[in-house]
Amino acid sequence: MAGVFLSLGSNLGDRRLNIQRALEQIAALPDTSVERVSSMYETEPMGYADQPDFLNAAAMIETKLGPDEFLDHLLGVELAMGRVRDIRWGPRVIDLDILLFGDVEMDSPGLTIPHPRMAERAFVLAPLSEIAPDLALPDGRSPSEALAALANQRVRRADEE
Ligand code: ATP
Ligand code: CA
Ligand code: CA
Repeated sequence: MAGVFLSLGSNLGDRRLNIQRALEQIAALPDTSVERVSSMYETEPMGYADQPDFLNAAAMIETKLGPDEFLDHLLGVELAMGRVRDIRWGPRVIDLDILLFGDVEMDSPGLTIPHPRMAERAFVLAPLSEIAPDLALPDGRSPSEALAALANQRVRRADEE
């Protein structure tokens, strides 16, 4: 079993429901269980500003699947939920990123683990610090230590509506 940390995001449609549905589908994958899910966090878009705000969450998964196989399933869930890839970092119904996959380090054309941009994104670190406060990021910092260096990025905890 590998402990996997995921980042989930949505900024189209019913964002909270999209994240919940994605987690249900991940929980239904073979030899896979969802162990922990963070609260939802609302964030302004990065990279491409002219789009709705995102809702983001993090989850801890346990799986017997390998990294490539697991990513293929995630891309399948994105596709099944109607994800269209056009604008880089543009609006999306659902985005599922692998942050960490046990202690796997890999850099293939389709999959880089750990996720190379995780430590520079408050919308990743805020939910991650909630479900895994003692986790060591690739640079050795905890999620909240890395988050403290990003005080200019606004992340708002979105309480249950
Ligand atoms: P970013 O990676 O900066 O968050 P993005 O999530 O918007 O950008 P996508 O268009 O969703 O990028 O994904 C492009 C490709 O990234 C995917 O098809 C997938 O093959 C690849 N990829 C590489 N590493 C990862 C990873 N750790 N998790 C998810 N996808 C990854
Ligand atoms: Ca992403
Ligand atoms: Ca992605």
